[in-house]
Amino acid sequence: MTPVRTRPPSNRGWLLSLVLFSLLIAMSLFSMTHPVRQNDAKYADAKEVPVSAITRGYEQKMFSKIVVRDNKVFAETATGMILQSYKEAGDTVSELGWNDPENPTVVEVENREATNMLIAVLPDLLFLLLLVGGLIWLFRGIARSQSTAMSFGKSRARVADMRQVKTRFKDVAGVEEAKEDLEEVVDFLKNPKKYTSIGAKIPRGVLLVGAPGTGKTLLARAVAGEAGVPFFSIAGSEFVEMFVGVGASRVRDLFMKAKRNAPCIVFIDEIDAVGRQRGGAGFGGGHDEREQTLNQILTEMDGFEQDTNVIVMAATNRPDVLDRALLRPGRFDRRIFLDKPDLEARKKILEVHGVRKKMAKGVDYTPIAKKTVGLAGADLENIMNEAAIFAAKRKHKTIMQEDMDDAVEKVALGPEKKSRKLTEKEKKITAYHELGHAIVGHLCPESDALHKISIVSRGSALGVTWFLPSEDQYTTSKTKFLDEICGLLGGRAAEKLIFDEMTTGASNDIERASQIARSMAMRFGMGDDKLGPVAYGEKEGTMFLGVDPTMARNYSEETARTIDDFVRKTVEEQYQRALGILKKHREKLEELVVILLKQETMSVEEFKVVFEGKTAA
Ligand code: ADP
Ligand code: MG
Ligand code: ZN
Repeated sequence: MTPVRTRPPSNRGWLLSLVLFSLLIAMSLFSMTHPVRQNDAKYADAKEVPVSAITRGYEQKMFSKIVVRDNKVFAETATGMILQSYKEAGDTVSELGWNDPENPTVVEVENREATNMLIAVLPDLLFLLLLVGGLIWLFRGIARSQSTAMSFGKSRARVADMRQVKTRFKDVAGVEEAKEDLEEVVDFLKNPKKYTSIGAKIPRGVLLVGAPGTGKTLLARAVAGEAGVPFFSIAGSEFVEMFVGVGASRVRDLFMKAKRNAPCIVFIDEIDAVGRQRGGAGFGGGHDEREQTLNQILTEMDGFEQDTNVIVMAATNRPDVLDRALLRPGRFDRRIFLDKPDLEARKKILEVHGVRKKMAKGVDYTPIAKKTVGLAGADLENIMNEAAIFAAKRKHKTIMQEDMDDAVEKVALGPEKKSRKLTEKEKKITAYHELGHAIVGHLCPESDALHKISIVSRGSALGVTWFLPSEDQYTTSKTKFLDEICGLLGGRAAEKLIFDEMTTGASNDIERASQIARSMAMRFGMGDDKLGPVAYGEKEGTMFLGVDPTMARNYSEETARTIDDFVRKTVEEQYQRALGILKKHREKLEELVVILLKQETMSVEEFKVVFEGKTAA
C-alpha cells in the first residue's frame, strides 16, 4: 500500500546473529583452553635434553618414534621414556640427519601448521566477524531510524482537512480575475465527465504566483471548499529533510493518498523551496535532496491517469527561480497571478475581515484602504486584528474608526515607543529633520503625497514623515527618482541649515538616497552620457534562503569609478537642491516646528494650513 519499502525489523535476524555470536565465543574459548592435543599429556613430563642428544639417540636407533612439532622435538624410547628438546627454527629433519632410510625410527613431523594458522587468525577472524556483525547492526539501526523519519514524513504530509474545507470564494476578496480562472478548476473537480467526454484535457497543475500574504493559500483552500473536495497540503520546505530521499518519499506518499481520495486538491506551498532551477550554483547541502524531490513531483504529475481527478496547486512568490521543467505543458501550465490589492480590492478585503468582527455602525473602510497602498491581504487582516485589540484596550463595545486609524499606523510604521524619552534638544532636531523631509517632499512635484508628520518614536525611528505612494504607478521616471532623493535628503539639509550640525538620525535616509542613485546608474540606464542605457552588474547564482544573489562585477574599473562619480554627483546635487528649498522656506519651517513640537503629530491638512497660508477647509 505505501510505497516506502522499509521492512519492520525482524527478530529472526537478531536471533541468528546472537546464535552465531555465541558460537564464535564458545569456539574461541574452546581453542584457548584446549590448545594441545590429547596425546600431549604424556609429553608433559618429558625430560629435556639438547637436540644433539636426540640426534645421537637416533643414530643409535634408541627411539621408536620422534615427533617434531614446531621447534619442539619429542623422542620416545621403546621403553616409553620421553625426551624433549628444541631445534633451531630453520632446521629441517634432513638437516638434523633424521632421514636415514635405513633407520627404523619413525620420524613424525606433525603438520600443526594448519591448526596453528587457525589459532593465529582466529582472533582476526573473530574481530572481522564482530566488525561485520557490528556494521550490519549499525546499518539496521540507520535503516530503522530512516524508516521512522519516513513514517514521520508520512504523518507530516498532512492529510490536511479531510473534513470539509470551510473557506469559500467569498472569503477571498478583490481577486476577481483569479477567481474566474479558478471557477473552471472547481467545475472540473465537480463534473469531470463534462470535460473528459468531449476529449478536453484536464488541467493538472495550477501555479499561484504572488507576493507573500496576497492570499495564495487562502485561494487554494477556497477552491477545495467550493468544490467540496479534500485539501492535501504540504510546504516545499517540509520536503527538505535531513535524509536524502525523505522528500521524494513524502511526495510519493502525498500523491498516493491524494489518488486514493480523488477528487481532491494537492497544495504545495512555497514550491520554490524544491523547484528551483537545477544545476545552478547551489549553496550548502540539501541540493540533491531538492532535485530528487522535484523529480518525484514531476514524475507523479506525469503519472496521473487522464481521468484521475487530482489537481495540484502550488504557490510561489518567486516564479523567476522555478525550474523550467515545472512550467511545461501538463505540469504547472496554468498560472494565476495575484497582485497586491488596489484601492477597491483593499476596501473589499477589509470588509471581508470586518464581517467577522464587531464593527461600529458607519465605519468607513475607504480612508483605511487609501492609507494602505502597497500592503497585501495579510497586512490588512493584521490591521483589522490590531484595530480589534485597540478597541478592546480602550473598552469600546465595537471597533471604531479611530481604532482602525491607529491600527494602520501601527502596522505601517511600527508600534509607538512612548517609553523612549527624547531630550528637548533631540526632540527639536527631530522636529526640524522631519519637517525638512515634509517641506522638501511637498515641494518636489513628483514626490509621493505627504500624509502625516510625527515626532513620536516608532520602531527604531525617532520620527516619521509619512508619504503615501499614489495608486496607479507601475513605472518610475527619472524625475521621480531625483525628487525622492531630494526628499530623503531634506532631513539632513534641515539639520545642516538650522544647527550647522549633522546627526546619525539621517543615516537611513542617506543610505536609501545613495541606493536610488546607484540603481539609476546600474539598473535603469539613467546614468550620465558616459554610462549610457546599459545595465551594469550581473546577478550571480540563484537566491538561497532569502539572501539575494550577489552582484558580480561585469564592468571595468573605470566604469566603476564613473558610476561612483555619478552617484556622488547626483546625491550632492539633490542635497543642494533640498538646502535651497529649505533656505527659501525657512520662516515656514520655523513656524511649523513650533506647532509640531507642541502637538507631536501633524496631519497634512494642518501642515498645509501653515505652509500654504490656507485656512482649514
Ligand atoms: P499567501 O499564501 O499568499 O502568503 P495567505 O493566503 O496565507 O497568503 O494569506 C494570509 C491571510 O491574509 C489569509 O489567511 C487571509 O486572512 C488574508 N488575506 C490575504 N489575501 C486576502 C484576500 N484577497 N481576501 C481576504 N483575505 C486575505
Ligand atoms: Mg501561503
Ligand atoms: Zn529622515
